Amino acid sequence: HFEGEKLDDDLAHAVSRIMAHADGARRLRVRTNADTPEDAARARRFGAQGIGLCRTEHMFLGERRELVEKLIVAEDETGVEAALAALLPLQRQDFTEILEAMDGLPVTIRLLDPPLHEFLPDLTELSVEVALAEERGQVDEHDATLLTHVRRLHEQNPMLGLRGVRLGIQIPGLFKMQARAIAEAAADRMEAHGTPRPEIMVPLVASVRELEIVRHTLEEQIAEVEDQRGVSLDIAIGTMIELPRAAFLADRIAMEADFFSFGTNDLTQMGWGFSRDDVESSFFSRYFEHGIFDVSPFESLDQLGVGGMVEMGTTKGRATKPDLKVGVCGEHGGDPRSVHFFDDIGLNYVSCSPFRVPVARLEAGRSVLDKR
Ligand code: PEP
Ligand code: MG
Repeated sequence: HFEGEKLDDDLAHAVSRIMAHADGARRLRVRTNADTPEDAARARRFGAQGIGLCRTEHMFLGERRELVEKLIVAEDETGVEAALAALLPLQRQDFTEILEAMDGLPVTIRLLDPPLHEFLPDLTELSVEVALAEERGQVDEHDATLLTHVRRLHEQNPMLGLRGVRLGIQIPGLFKMQARAIAEAAADRMEAHGTPRPEIMVPLVASVRELEIVRHTLEEQIAEVEDQRGVSLDIAIGTMIELPRAAFLADRIAMEADFFSFGTNDLTQMGWGFSRDDVESSFFSRYFEHGIFDVSPFESLDQLGVGGMVEMGTTKGRATKPDLKVGVCGEHGGDPRSVHFFDDIGLNYVSCSPFRVPVARLEAGRSVLDKR
């Protein structure tokens, strides 16, 4: 049943029998990518067995953008602490709502990923504004300071810049705050309703040392909350594998990870060297004409190349930890052909957008049934 549309009873009955058949056969678990309670609830109606990727970026936009701005322009430790202290209760509330919506199913929360300057004003616009104000002899102190920081953070290639785990290393307080908010939300929920199952995921890791540094900070925060509240939270800490280097070094990275989740969007971008943000304007039509590929590698997994890295990363990770839980949370998690591939190489779960959850369930079932 899609929202607002009802299938006629016979068809609905047939669909649910097919889904039950697929669910009975499949080995792969199907989670969803959701970062609002509404999406989480929708995905559960479609049969999601947890959240495989809760992005936290949108939680820093809107009215909260101002707090991020304060965090970045803070001149000293006290300013940073104040901005983070203001963000903490908001984040705690975000995570409480998501955990509530999933009611005991696993929820993988990914720490902040995109470049910080995405939360800041545009460099050119701000430069012009400040220059004009200067001409009028009316420079706003706040704008002038902001401009200095926006310039400092400006990068030619932001997608290859200060994002993901690098942010956590550059501004340790940021991931600390997020870990604390997750642990507090989990403790609140535990007192009220039993077992929440948050998991923390670190994005854009390329080296085991990065993960080791961040993991230490996260564990400290979790332990402090456990002590204060007298509970054991058992929060798994895992990593995304979305850079080729991480796939090659997955055996080392597994030493510091409780689970892996392949970010096949970035792995495709970094593997092929194609910008994921310029697909429409790219040379892809020529590539289709020449048969270099018949479908965009951002839509259906390039099984040979990018898929090869997923398979290698999984094998290497499990060489270190045989029971390592491995999933995928890029767009490919809901693409039929890719789902068969992920099943064939032995992943534990795929995670996709709510509306693709039934597709993934069906294809995960077919992947098993087709081989019988
Ligand atoms: C990915 O890179 O595949 C991923 C899931 O992360 P994001 O799309 O947020 O970069
Ligand atoms: Mg990514």
